[in-house]
This record gives sequence, structure tokens and C-alpha cells, in this order.
Amino acid sequence: MTEVEEMQDQKYQGPHLVLIPLPLQGHLNPMLQLATLLHSKGFLITIVHTQFNSPNPSNHPNFNFEPIPDGLSDDRAAAMDIIMLVAALNVAYKAPSEELLRRLVLENPYGPIKCIISDAMMHFTQDVASILNIPRVVIRTSSAISFAAFTAFPLLKQKGCLSVQDHQLKAPVPELPPLRFKDLPSNGLATCDPDTLYHLVTHMVDGVRAASAVIWNAFDYLERTTLTKIQQDFPIPNFPVGPLHKHASSSSSSLLPQDHSCIAWLNKQAHGSVLYVSFGSLVAMEESALVETAWGLANSDQPFLWVVRPGSVHGSDWVELPEGFKEKTKGRGLIVKWAPQQEVLAHPAVGGFWTHSGWNSTLESICEGVPMLCSPWFGDQRVNARYVDHVWRVGMELENGFERREIEQAIKTVMVRNDGQEMRARIKDLKENADRCLRKGGSSYESLNSLKDYILSL
Ligand code: UDP
Repeated sequence: MTEVEEMQDQKYQGPHLVLIPLPLQGHLNPMLQLATLLHSKGFLITIVHTQFNSPNPSNHPNFNFEPIPDGLSDDRAAAMDIIMLVAALNVAYKAPSEELLRRLVLENPYGPIKCIISDAMMHFTQDVASILNIPRVVIRTSSAISFAAFTAFPLLKQKGCLSVQDHQLKAPVPELPPLRFKDLPSNGLATCDPDTLYHLVTHMVDGVRAASAVIWNAFDYLERTTLTKIQQDFPIPNFPVGPLHKHASSSSSSLLPQDHSCIAWLNKQAHGSVLYVSFGSLVAMEESALVETAWGLANSDQPFLWVVRPGSVHGSDWVELPEGFKEKTKGRGLIVKWAPQQEVLAHPAVGGFWTHSGWNSTLESICEGVPMLCSPWFGDQRVNARYVDHVWRVGMELENGFERREIEQAIKTVMVRNDGQEMRARIKDLKENADRCLRKGGSSYESLNSLKDYILSL
């Protein structure tokens, strides 16, 4: 048998799990990392995926890939805002997924299905699993703290708190300390229809309640209080097995080509000197914010590696940087379209991360002990940033949007100034605790073994 044949052969062994990711970068990465982890525990993995934002099967030779026929075209998907898109996915993929899963059950090409593991945001899978009588486990790819905020939506709506006037934004939300109204996930989604958002969130939460069990990309040390509260409110088995990216790199699930040339550039920079700047795969900023970002970076005098993703500025495919910016930052700045982020954050030259506070980015930064400057836009990012700044105190949030002077000062605090010293020390400590959770006897390590036993018991 050749090596490839052996690999193919290995695929068709072990209890069979069907994983259904949400086709967005920040959701695909943890789901494929979980797949790698479960495969290493002896499970046979089938990824049921949309053709839109499809993962690349050739990067994962150990898994089966089953595309869901039909659904949304790339063009239709590209025309929607993010909330509309996720809501539409839940409608468009329900019938074709049911048909595909029914075929997998009846024809049994890979063995009987133990359970499906669905992204919680693909809430339609609850109905499909019930119809086909297959147990459904969900994975929440974001933080437990943001899920707790999502569970409060009905109460907040009833009290009229989901959208408040500007002058109330800094007031605390009594039901969700330490969040302020500006930290609620419903903010920052100006173009999105509030009813669509509300229904998506409540369906997602109801789908978690109806699931057999829930897997968290979280670790006990960081979110213990919230995880305990959720366990009480959702009395199904809960498995915090994160941070998942420590088990498998997200490079293999990257939807955009990663520019590795930045590593050679980082090799030439001084230890801890570089600010890494990236706002993830979805954020699109106003051109005026881009200009303030550029001047904030230029005036900070720190070396920087800046990811400017095509489409990351409203209304244009690529961006014009302000005149004079290149000259002022010559020799100390590099701009790329998409970076190998995990490798970048692990590089000794990187000393700070200016992030949109997506959950993967937050965990990746914590696990490398890199302090954060936070500019959250919408959804879970706002909750994550509040905790990074106010509770875990391993970063600071830019409170007033994008203003070059505030940016410059904040960069200096995070990277070099004495007033950032404690934050830099705290994140090194947090990194140690994250490592400990993953080691033998650690909470995530044990939780993963419990997850394996639980699935085998189904
Ligand atoms: N990422 C990457 N290259 C980049 C920027 C981001 O590979 O230049 C990856 C990053 O490592 C993370 C994911 O994209 O795993 C972004 O997920 P996150 O939850 O942080 O944000 P989202 O894109 O969902 O807003």
C-alpha cells in the first residue's frame, strides 16, 4: 500500500462524526482544529460544508469532505451584511443538508453516524438532527462571556436596552456586569436589521439548549465563573476544551493565501518591538478610520506589521494610504494582505497586537503572551474587548473610535511605557495558565477526554 492509500484507508476507521462548520474564517478555524483533535483521538471525521467559503480538502487528507449541494452562490453571499448572511445560510442550507445527511445515514459510506457536531450558529441543524434522529452536539467557537450576553437578549429587548441613545452607551448594564451598553453584541451593526439579529441570536441560544452537549473553545482558568453559570442554566454536558488552535494551526483552513514573507521581515526586528495590527476577516472600516490608523502608527514610532485585507475599507477593493505615510514609516513598517497570524504572534519580535478582539485572535494573543490594544466592531468582539481591558487586564480598549493621538498614546502604553508594564506581565502569567490547562491533568486536557468518552457513550 502506498502512503496515500494508507492514509485513505485510515480515514475509514473509527466511530464516525459529522462536523458542520459555519463558513466564516473565525468559525472554520476552530471547527477544523476540533476535527484534527478528535481524529487524533480515533474518530473518523466527515466535514459537511457549504460550497461558499469551502475549506480546501487537500489540506486535510485525513477527513472526508461532503459538499452540501445548492445553497447560496458566492455572489448572493457577498451582497449581504454578516447577520443577513448567517440568517440566510440557516434557511438556504436546511433542506439540502437534510437530504445529504439522509443519504449518509441510508447509504452509510463511512459507517453509522455517532453524532453531528454543528457550529451553534448553524441552528437549523437542530431540526435536521431531530428529523433524522441523530444526536447533535454544538460547538460555540467564541467566548463563554459573549454567549452569556447573547442569552440575555430576550430580557434586554423586553427592557428596551438592545439599542440605546449615544449618551447612555457608557452606562453599566445592570444584568450583565461588567458590561456597559456599548459592550453589548448588538452594537456596531448599523446596517443590519435588528429583528434579523434578534431572531438569529435567540434561535442560536435555543439550539444550544436543545443540543445533547456543548463544546467550548474556552478554558476554565479564563472563564470559570461564566462557564459555571452557563452549566447551571444549560444542564447538558459542557466541554471547555480550548484553546483549540494550540492543537492545530489555522494555516490549513485559511480562506486567503497567507503572506509568509513577513516572517523574514520580523526576523530582522528587535525582540518585542513590533506591533502586529489586524482586524480579522470580516471588519470593514471607514476610509477616515484608515487614515487615523495610518497616522497613529506613524506617530507611535514603533515598528509595525499591518494586515490590510482586500475589502477592509468600505467601498473599495484596495486602499490608498495617506500621502507622506510611506516616507514617515520607511524601514519600520510592513503591510501585507493576510498574514500567518499564529506564526506572527509567536514570533519573538512581536510585542503587541492591535486587534478587533475576535475570539480566535484574542486566544491566539493570550497563548503567546502578547498584550492587546482592542478596537472591537460588533458582536462578541465588544464583550471580549471589555474583558481583556477591564477584567483580565491584559490589554486596553481604544474608547473613542479611531483618533490618531489616542492611538499613538495607546500603542506606546501597550508596547513600551511603564503604565503598560503590569498588563504585559499579566498576559505572560495568563499564557502560563493557558498552557497548564492543555497539559496532562489540566482542565481542557481532561475535558477533551470526557468529551471522547461522552461521544463514545452515545
Ligand atoms: N487570521 C489569519 N491571518 C490574518 C488575520 C487573521 O490567519 O492576517 C486568522 C486568525 O489567526 C484567526 C482568524 O483568522 O484564527 C480570525 O478569527 P477571529 O475570531 O479573530 O476574527 P473574525 O475574522 O472571525 O472576525
